[in-house]
This record gives sequence, structure tokens and C-alpha cells, in this order.
Amino acid sequence: MILVTGGAGYIGSHMVKLLLEHNYEVIIFDNLSMGHRASVPEHVPFIKGDLNNHDQITQVFKKYAIKAVMHFAANCYVGESVNHPQKYYHNNIIGLIHLLDAMREANVKNLIFSSSCAVYGRPPKRLIDEKTVREPISPYGRTKFFSEKIIEDYSMAYGLNYILLRYFNVAGADGDGKIGEDHKPETHLIPNILRHLQGKQKEITIFGNDYPTTDGTCIRDYIHVTDLVEGHLYALSNLLHKKLNREAYNLGTGRGYSILEVVQKCELITRKKALIQYKERRPGDPPHLVANTRKALKELKWKARFEMDDMIHSAWHWFLKHPDGYPIDKDGR
Ligand code: UDP
Repeated sequence: MILVTGGAGYIGSHMVKLLLEHNYEVIIFDNLSMGHRASVPEHVPFIKGDLNNHDQITQVFKKYAIKAVMHFAANCYVGESVNHPQKYYHNNIIGLIHLLDAMREANVKNLIFSSSCAVYGRPPKRLIDEKTVREPISPYGRTKFFSEKIIEDYSMAYGLNYILLRYFNVAGADGDGKIGEDHKPETHLIPNILRHLQGKQKEITIFGNDYPTTDGTCIRDYIHVTDLVEGHLYALSNLLHKKLNREAYNLGTGRGYSILEVVQKCELITRKKALIQYKERRPGDPPHLVANTRKALKELKWKARFEMDDMIHSAWHWFLKHPDGYPIDKDGR
């Protein structure tokens, strides 16, 4: 069985869907702070629990025969982490330690970890490879960096097998339109633009147009969530078959888009005009983050298949079908 922490969240729910399609048995552990009960398929065992509660996570390993853990449960907003580092250190670091300790007690040795390109901070190179020095510039990035270090140390001392996956900017939704991105509050760029174009927000705010980039706005490498979870599937299979271990991979496309370019793409696809408001830079944002994806291609044999247009189309489809996001269930999520 594969334990997916954060399996009711945006990326976790897409992972669960893909694992089920590949006949893995799955169990979800999620505190529903960001996730949605409605995104969990009915037949999948779901435990509402918090990683900061050691007993709750320990019980899961006692009850189920778990072969590997895919750890998605974490807070992920760069801007929020600058103002609320306590939340990020508690949930992302202490939560991880409880999980690793529970795995150790149960002798579960395999971990796929959701890391981030935020570990690289303000990288010196245009295309970031995995050997780039890790010097995060936000508390969020630091939680991912410290998590990587903790996992590396547990691996050396206790024989944990792991693969770290460093995500670039994840966007889009599954093709069938049943699961998608529904963060409350939403801080990510593409959903915010689409929400605005849908009439749910009166404008789109761009944080900073004085960056040292072609048009002054930040450049990011956007990756389709379907591609991203496929990268995880390849990593899991390699880890379970003992082909790869103690490795880190960038999951991105290798192509950068400025914020203005993303806005223009969204306008073209939705055939609507955006109203842009410029504000000062958001703390913690580096100007340029684009992946060198060679290592993932060579070793994982994985490459992103979808383009920016596919991400926007699929996200738009999801928003049109679910104008108010997921239905609220009895847990209040
Ligand atoms: N951004 C923006 N307006 C928004 C949301 C994001 O200008 O409403 C910018 C943000 O400052 C960053 C880029 O878009 O430069 C990507 O931000 P996002 O929050 O989507 O992802 P992150 O890079 O923080 O993981």
C-alpha cells in the first residue's frame, strides 16, 4: 500500500488518481486544512489526521501494511511563509519529523518527498540543475531545504530510501475535469488570473514589474500537474525496484514564462481581457526560476509532455465546471 499524505490536496489528489489507474493500493492521510474531502474517491481509505499529532500518524502504520510514503502534506505559499514562519516550521518541519519517526518505528523505508525549486533561492544560472547550491531566500524555501537535509540524515543513519522531487510552478487540472485546484485563499498566478477572467476577482495583481527580466515581471517554469504526478510515478517505481535511491530531481519543463506572458496566454485562451494592477514585489520571490530537466530525462526517463496552453485550457475547464470550487462536505471542507 502507498500512503499519500496530503492526498486530498491539489497535487496529492492528482497523484492518488494516477496511482489508482496504475493499480496501486492507496491510503490517504490529510488534515483537510487545505485539501477537500470531495476530491477523495469513495473507495479509498481516508484518515483525517494531522502529522503534528504523533499518535495519529503512528496508528496509520500500525493498521496498514505500507510499502512507501509519498509526502505532499505541507504549506506552500512563499509570501505567507515570510509573514508566518511559525506555521511553516511547525507544519512542514515538525510534521515531517513525526512522519519519519513513525516510518522508522514501523520499518517503512521508502519515501518520495515533495520538494521545491524554492530551495535554490536566487540561483546564479539561467537553467537550474540539481547540483546548484541550495540557498533559499524564503522561510518556505528553507523548510523544504531543511526537510531535504533531515531526510538525507535519516537516510544515512537509518537506511531510509528516498527521492526528492523539486517542483517548479505547478498548474492545470486533470483532463476529466473532476479534480482541480481549489485553494482558499488562492495565491497562485494562473488560478488567480482565471478567477479574474471568470469575473470572480475584479483585477489581477502583478507583484513587481521592475525585475531584471525582459518585461520586468518574474519568470517561472510552469509544469502541468498531470506531468508532475507522472514524474512521481516514475520515481516511485524506480525507488521500489531499487533502481534509484538518494537522488533529487527537478520537475519542470525547461521553458520560462514571464507573468505578463502568462496573462496574455490566458486572455487568448479565454477570449477575455484582463485588468492588471501592479503592486510592489512580493517578499521571497526570486526573479527567474527555470529548470534544467536533463537529469530527470536521463535517469527517470521522464519528460513533461504538456505545454502552457494545455495547463490554461485544463484549469479553465475546471473553473468553468466548478465556479465555486469543491462542494463543502460534512467536515466543513
Ligand atoms: N504572482 C502575481 N500575482 C498573483 C499571484 C502570483 O504577480 O496573483 C506572481 C508571484 O509574485 C510570482 C509568480 O507570480 O512572481 C508565481 O507565483 P505563484 O504564487 O503562482 O508561485 P510561486 O512561484 O510562489 O510558487
